[in-house]
Amino acid sequence: MAQVAFIGLGNMGGPMAANLVKAGHGVAGFDLSQASLAAAAQAGVDTFATLAEAVNGAEAVITMLPKGEHVVAVWENLAGLVPAGTLLIDCSTVDVESARKAHSIAQTVECVSLDAPVSGGTGGAAAGTLTFMAGGTDRAFARARPFLETMGKRIVHCGADGAGQAAKICNNMILGISMIAVGEAFALGEKLGLSHQALFDVASTSSGQCWSLTSYCPVPGPVPASPANNGYKPGFAAALMLKDLKLSQEAAAASGASTPLGAAAAALYETFENTGSGARDFSAIIEMLRGSR
Ligand code: NAD
Repeated sequence: MAQVAFIGLGNMGGPMAANLVKAGHGVAGFDLSQASLAAAAQAGVDTFATLAEAVNGAEAVITMLPKGEHVVAVWENLAGLVPAGTLLIDCSTVDVESARKAHSIAQTVECVSLDAPVSGGTGGAAAGTLTFMAGGTDRAFARARPFLETMGKRIVHCGADGAGQAAKICNNMILGISMIAVGEAFALGEKLGLSHQALFDVASTSSGQCWSLTSYCPVPGPVPASPANNGYKPGFAAALMLKDLKLSQEAAAASGASTPLGAAAAALYETFENTGSGARDFSAIIEMLRGSR
């Protein structure tokens, strides 16, 4: 079993670190928030007041932070703290440019690095069933894999530095667009006098079938576990959906890709967040589409 440092013990990082502890690893944690540190300590993480103390003696350092600027800043600090050969894994969702910058910081001090964002949300983090999308060298992927397998059930090596973030951004652009498509279809069906169940029974077994419909249906009833049955408690908050759609649009602009529906989805989620709905599940956007919010 290894000594691992975990930096960023929030809604995702906390339960991910707890799963490393359960697997028998020694886990040292650091976070700027006292509440996050206290929760991690309850789960068996050795918590420290500084980054330097937390990474001392770590074979691998995992970061799970809000945005690219946080990851780059923390990795710049790590570069002065950890010896050559240390494995650095970033699991945050960030822009591809920041991910590549983090890799180049690691390379200047001869560390081995992987971008490995996740899908599966806080439920997947707690259950250890996350999907990891990894970008980096074969060597980095091989070294990281045992740790990622402790926290997830599907681990995909997507390509070179930044490829994990690219896959995450593309996947979540599909998700944002498809949730709006499903919401519009239910809103139209309501106007046409269709029951939710009838539309679900047809579309879930026809060409309209998609995850936003069959696993995360935005109306209560057809999929009992979806947030629509629970007052749209997240789940996956609309603010995080907007964050990922904005990342997709930055990436599209930087690479010259044409993503008109991605742009429209980002604009709709921005409007939705401005109604004060950022903390609600992203499937609640159906209320705005109906005109009821
Ligand atoms: P969070 O805000 O709950 O946790 C982030 C933690 O990082 C906080 O505890 C914060 O105090 C800490 N932090 C910030 N700057 C720091 C620094 N310099 N040093 C140490 N700690 C620092 O966020 P979260 O929901 O855990 O999300 C983390 C990442 O995972 C984000 O990039 C998010 O987009 C991504 N993500 C989240 C979900 C989800 O459902 N919550 C799903 C997939 C991916």
